[in-house]
Amino acid sequence: PREDKLLDTTIHRRKTRAVKVGNVTIGGNNPVVVQSMINEDTLDIDGSVAGIRRLHEIGCEIVRVTVPSMAHARALAEIKQKLADTYQPVPLVADVHHNGMKIALEVAKHVDKVRINPGLYVFEKPKGDRTEYTETEFKEIGAKIKETLEPLVISLRDQGKAMRIGVNHGSLAERMLFTYGDTPEGMVESALEFIKICESLDFKNLIISLKASRVPVMLSAYRLMVKKMDELGMDYPLHLGVTEAGDGEYGRIKSTAGIGTLLAEGIGDTIRVSLTEAPEKEIPVCYSILQALGLRKTMVEYVACPSCGRTLFNLEEVLHKVREATKHLTGLDIAVMGCIVNGPGEMADADYGYVGRQPGFISLYRGREEIRKVPEEQGVEQLIQLIKDDGRWVDP
Ligand code: SF4
Repeated sequence: PREDKLLDTTIHRRKTRAVKVGNVTIGGNNPVVVQSMINEDTLDIDGSVAGIRRLHEIGCEIVRVTVPSMAHARALAEIKQKLADTYQPVPLVADVHHNGMKIALEVAKHVDKVRINPGLYVFEKPKGDRTEYTETEFKEIGAKIKETLEPLVISLRDQGKAMRIGVNHGSLAERMLFTYGDTPEGMVESALEFIKICESLDFKNLIISLKASRVPVMLSAYRLMVKKMDELGMDYPLHLGVTEAGDGEYGRIKSTAGIGTLLAEGIGDTIRVSLTEAPEKEIPVCYSILQALGLRKTMVEYVACPSCGRTLFNLEEVLHKVREATKHLTGLDIAVMGCIVNGPGEMADADYGYVGRQPGFISLYRGREEIRKVPEEQGVEQLIQLIKDDGRWVDP
């Protein structure tokens, strides 16, 4: 009934098959996986190893590298070895291009997943003839693509590795553009064509992405993909992303608008936030999106009121102090509320509360229970003491 649905506060994730990428699994009942990409040159072995490690240490669970040449593909063998020797194995993904099928075959030996972009597999008509494609021409090109792709699919299948079919709105193949236009439908058909080739070779370790730099296009493409996959009985996990999101606050908001919206609808099994900043900056954004939606809890959840005329202390300053003192504690909800009038009721069931009591005094709460009133200057210290008394403190 309608009412039950409105009262439901959990996100019901779309059921997908589990696809292994090294020691991480995407899809199935697994948490949404966080990934990013290093920007070191893959030929710089030590630099790449350091870059991969830096990302992995802050929570990037799968790391992507580009492989523009055969030398880059071979370098990955060394990178992989060095990671295993000096750190630990990290699931690696290689980005390869059509003109590098030999490169793809080489790199498939060293990484856990290969990402291909269907838009780069072009067998188009000569210039000048580009008006439309007949069904026969369309199919003929499809057959050529299959022939090209087959060795890679077989290699990944036989090694138990994965493939991402990564469609980009900005680089659709020409015949898709002529047939479906520059549309989400063209993106979806492009992905389906490649999925069907893989399925015909009995390979289903697939992850699909349909990125665009415009959020409404990306939303529409993923939703349409889900609808088509449901109709066709396909359950491939989806990799979400907004390409070229830019930087700073707007880059983060744009990424969140796209990725967060789909995740809230239960769509998406792995995410990448693409910022024009150091890749390390992308990881906290990914985790914040997942935490805000209640999909993963990896940090303290702070609940704080916006402050108003009733506020009894400098909320911004106190929130900052509380955060600095407690941010290393995972799994806790801590509220900082300006006054006792509305504060305790609006703490959203936080584990601990720091609430303005009267001028110069604050009250500490455990859940909904007021534990003690303390002078403001002892507030943070006493909050830590309370968490310690409860055995929920760990040293940073
Ligand atoms: Fe104002 Fe109190 Fe609400 Fe904070 S909790 S916004 S101080 S009324």
